[in-house]
Amino acid sequence: MADIIKLLPDHVANQIAAGEVVQRPASVVKELLENAIDAGADLIKLIVKDGGKALIQVVDNGTGMSETDARLSFERHATSKITNAQDLYNLNTKGFRGEALASIAAIAHVDMLTRVESMDVGTHIKIEGSKIMAQELVATPKGTSISVKNLFFNIPARRNFLKSNQVELRHITDEFHRVALVHPNIEFHLYNNGSEIFNLPKTNARQRIAHIFGSKMTERLVPIGEQTEVVNISGFICKPEFAKKSRGEQFFFANNRFIKSPYLHHAVVSAFEGLIKPDVFPGYFVYLEVDPKSIDINIHPTKTEVKFDDEHALYAMLRSTIKHSLGQFNVAPVLDFEHDPNLDTPYAYKEKGAVLPKVTVDAGFNPFQQESSGGKGSTTYQKQSTKGWEQLFTGLDTENLDSFSSVEIETDTEVQGRIYEQDDKEVQTGITFQLQRKYVVSTLKSGMLIVHQNRAHERVLFEKFLGEITVKEGVSQQLLFPLELTFNAMELQVLQEIRESLQSVGFAFEDLNQETVKVTGVPILVSESGIGTVLDRMIAEYKEGIEESSVSQAELLAKALSRNLAVKSGEVLDAESQTALVNDLFGCKEPALSPFQKKTYTIITDSEIDKKMG
Ligand code: ADP
Ligand code: MG
Repeated sequence: MADIIKLLPDHVANQIAAGEVVQRPASVVKELLENAIDAGADLIKLIVKDGGKALIQVVDNGTGMSETDARLSFERHATSKITNAQDLYNLNTKGFRGEALASIAAIAHVDMLTRVESMDVGTHIKIEGSKIMAQELVATPKGTSISVKNLFFNIPARRNFLKSNQVELRHITDEFHRVALVHPNIEFHLYNNGSEIFNLPKTNARQRIAHIFGSKMTERLVPIGEQTEVVNISGFICKPEFAKKSRGEQFFFANNRFIKSPYLHHAVVSAFEGLIKPDVFPGYFVYLEVDPKSIDINIHPTKTEVKFDDEHALYAMLRSTIKHSLGQFNVAPVLDFEHDPNLDTPYAYKEKGAVLPKVTVDAGFNPFQQESSGGKGSTTYQKQSTKGWEQLFTGLDTENLDSFSSVEIETDTEVQGRIYEQDDKEVQTGITFQLQRKYVVSTLKSGMLIVHQNRAHERVLFEKFLGEITVKEGVSQQLLFPLELTFNAMELQVLQEIRESLQSVGFAFEDLNQETVKVTGVPILVSESGIGTVLDRMIAEYKEGIEESSVSQAELLAKALSRNLAVKSGEVLDAESQTALVNDLFGCKEPALSPFQKKTYTIITDSEIDKKMG
């Protein structure tokens, strides 16, 4: 047999390597920003178009490159940052692999302009898919400008895999923040499609955080600091009362590099123990400085996961430092969870009348009596269909099914109405009561129905909102006095992205381009005092969701709305609301599961009860 193994040509090897380094436009942004910082720049401009799909350009005023270096920088394993393996354990630069530029040039159209201070002219290099298209001398300012156009032009599968411009822009913004947060002494600008979205002057760490996340951050931050032989810890934590329902402003940096560390995250959370509720996350900006020898940043190609030599010691120190700050700044004693009831249950159930209108059950109603079919009782609630009830019986085994086929809801002992024979008439649920302020229990003829109030309501609201977003028919409640809310640049981006969907469920906004947004209308379910909280959480949950999953925007929003507006466990429901909730649930397309795939109800059959009785 003939020999079949061949060495891959360089451009193919580069393209394969590129798959590791460049997942999306944001990866290019990260590499280019890091190169600019390594080059000692103190002014860096990031310019993107169409979420980076059309253009990513980084302009810096750093050292620049000689003509030879400029050409070499696009070779694989070409780096000025390490010369031997030992250097790997003593890194002070962000880059060291020497493969970023080679990888990027393999899958995009790249233009580099660069000049070192000592030269009068600079170099222009044009590369497309690893092929040098042009190299010439040019007049250009000191420093380097690299533009990357048509990313993934030669890998259509990758290109098609990219998300919307807005989503890609958000990933870019995240990378931009991660870099900007560790270099407050560098001036950064970010432009998107011609308009400047961040202008970060040189300043200190606290101000940098405020410039990025909005001025309201300044009073929320509490400094932390600790110097030991193993680690220097500095940075800020957010006061416990500003802990959020979803993750967001949580940053670890090790030796000026953004890192992810679930383990250290746990250390921070545990320091807040007793000060925040278990379902909220504290915000933090933690900067760790360790001996480069004691940290391995090389274990992950995108370099956000690191290995510390002595993680346990770090954990303990971080935890005690934060505890110390919380105590020192007297944060702990002012906490009072009961103080602001809006934090936990912002919406009195009573205000939700529009979802679950009260039903007055007419106990004397007999579905078989023709005369009464017009509704003798004062039923104000219109159920969409009674079909849902049949689904109560799916999933039960046949033995049980037999006993259930003759199920009745006991509205009244006189009434022996079987729901399957009721045709279009209203389903009558019977006696309901609340158990542990968490479940609504209803009697069935052959057993007991136990509905999880929170999950059931989530299901009901989820289907309602999903429908409204799709057909754009949500009802809006106009505010007499428009409410002014402030958002930071990132939140505004998300708001703009989901604006249409929000409008279809009933939100109305004036101008969405300013830090201060006027809300002029809200869905009927949202109480005025809860608007800010709902929008904040929606934004955070949406942002988180879209990054992790491929579900549609409509579904994500419907989920977030349902989670935030559904009646919670612990809330008291009056009898009518209980009935309406059960009816609504079984009017849903998929009553059995909440939008978060949790069981909404369970049934205990008579025979099961009998069995228990022995
Ligand atoms: P690495 O950063 O891992 O060394 P890169 O492929 O990112 O690898 O860059 C290759 C080399 O090109 C760098 O080591 C550096 O010498 C040079 N370089 C890249 N970007 C710049 C820049 N903006 N300014 C000056 N030199 C740069
Ligand atoms: Mg680099």
